[in-house]
Amino acid sequence: MTKYLAKIGLEIHCEMSETNSKVFSKARNSYSEIPNSNVVALDMGFPGTLPAVNKEAVKLALTASILLGCKQPEYMKFERKNYYYPDLPKGYQITQETKPNPVGIYGEVEYECNGEIKVCHIDNIHLEEDAASLDHFYSTSNIDYNRAGVPLLELVTAPDFHSSDEAVAFLEHMCSVYRYAGISEADSRRGQIKADVNVSIMDASLDESDPKNWGIKVEMKNVNSFGGIKGAIDYEIQRQIDAKENGTYDKEVFQQTRRWDEETGTTIFMRSKADAIDYKYFVEPNIPPIKISKEWIEEIKASLPELAMDRKKKYINEYGLSAYDAGVLVKDKNISDYFEECVKLGIDAKSASNWVTVNIIGELNKEGISINDFYLTPDMLKQIIDGINSGMLSSKQAKEVFSKSLDERKEPKNFISKDNAQISDEGELTTLIIKILDENPSQIELYKGGRDNLFDYFVGQVMKNTRGKANPVMTKEILHRELDKR
Ligand code: MN
Repeated sequence: MTKYLAKIGLEIHCEMSETNSKVFSKARNSYSEIPNSNVVALDMGFPGTLPAVNKEAVKLALTASILLGCKQPEYMKFERKNYYYPDLPKGYQITQETKPNPVGIYGEVEYECNGEIKVCHIDNIHLEEDAASLDHFYSTSNIDYNRAGVPLLELVTAPDFHSSDEAVAFLEHMCSVYRYAGISEADSRRGQIKADVNVSIMDASLDESDPKNWGIKVEMKNVNSFGGIKGAIDYEIQRQIDAKENGTYDKEVFQQTRRWDEETGTTIFMRSKADAIDYKYFVEPNIPPIKISKEWIEEIKASLPELAMDRKKKYINEYGLSAYDAGVLVKDKNISDYFEECVKLGIDAKSASNWVTVNIIGELNKEGISINDFYLTPDMLKQIIDGINSGMLSSKQAKEVFSKSLDERKEPKNFISKDNAQISDEGELTTLIIKILDENPSQIELYKGGRDNLFDYFVGQVMKNTRGKANPVMTKEILHRELDKR
């Protein structure tokens, strides 16, 4: 019996997809290698500039709020979070802090962890602006305002997770929802997603539903990879358990902020909560409250996108795929989109699934690329599959055409010709088979005497004579027929 129960909560910041403009300014919201190229005066905090709320960003945020089972406010309000930092020229961040101002509050989400369905409660989800970014050099630092004002969605969960596995499974679920709904690409490698993780432990024999029984909460700021989040949680749980066991809990586990150190795999003390900044929140006076009408919510609800779970069900029930294959296809939205395109083009769902889950994903893994960078489009895959269906290609030849097409970056149709077409002409195959049988009387005798495996010998002879082009199904049929006659 474990003596301790860990309670883990997440605050997840996610950069939203490339909306038409930033969240409060008309600067382009798009990643750029050129510093300070997507910037207008407002992003630099110039006096006299006024924010204007981007309706598209609000709509995406509302979509997230609905998909995560949250309650939407009647009037959505923004607030100022006041602090000074060089990457924040205005001296405050526009955000949503106080309930019921945020775009969503009190949600409930089901997610799967190690084959079990779990529930996580959402405290709130809110829309805010990102800060600029700083590049530090030996004796100077440069500010790039491209990121200033990029829409961010912050999701705050209740401390409902009890292990790093649950926290990471929830994060994966949330990222999948964001990607399928076009809310964010949620790519942690591109720094689009960062989490603050809070961890406490309590006596497992006490009632978890009573917050009085919870332990002291320790927070880890800005962990930016799933591996880091898992590492930080596991390390912190163990650190707190050790402190309890050693009788040093009161000294070591107090309200504090720590950071995850990737190199040592440990968390390191940053500051105590007593030094916490008072942000002096107040309602942003330059943005009037925004009425979220019932009609707008209904409109968004009516056009909610298909999520991974919906597609998985469709693949199993309508396309007859196995749960395993359906799961592989929906794991990456771009792969699922590719598969959907194949089906739309008229490729049989089962063969499309086989090609995608085996050959294409195999190729992607080998090359370490994403399907968006894959040369062979669904249209080109169709050329190969049409080749098989029309008898121009055997399955072995189809795989060769697939490889050649990728190697030479030429469409498959260039490698599909009558020359390598399968021989499916009944008369031609029969003549050839009779000739082969005539040449092998002793093998026929042995076959008739019970050596069944000699059948494969005859098939082999046919393939040898046609350099593998004989239609295998027809070959077997004709062979049986001709052998029966002898
Ligand atoms: Mn935030």
